[in-house]
Amino acid sequence: MGTVTSFLRLDRMKVLRHQMQRDSERVRAALETIQHREEMVAGSVFERRRRCGKRGCRCEQGKLHVGQILSVRRAGQPVWTSMNASSSEMTVTLVGNYQRFRKARRELMQTFQRLIEAVDELGCLKLKES
Ligand SMILES: [Zn+2]
Repeated sequence: MGTVTSFLRLDRMKVLRHQMQRDSERVRAALETIQHREEMVAGSVFERRRRCGKRGCRCEQGKLHVGQILSVRRAGQPVWTSMNASSSEMTVTLVGNYQRFRKARRELMQTFQRLIEAVDELGCLKLKES
């Protein structure tokens, strides 16, 4: 008795095992990113286009000045700093490190959530019917 149910149960267990395998690879990849030694800056970088206000400047014809802005939070408030060419390359790298770190952290959270759900479901399926 219970043959069909057993097949369905075994199928589902197989799917869960595959999913857990993929998730453990995701965890490993995310931890690799998190364990990188590079320093980081908690912020974001964006481009600002503006007119400078000087008479006769090319920006009056619509060729706006492009600058890179670093945005960080201090005491919960965003603080913007404009970057010059020499500081921006390094800052972009450091902010990129931070963005990758945060993305890996999000990935870990989602994967752990999915893993623990799979663990619980697998636990139920493994319970011997009495
Ligand atoms: Zn200008």
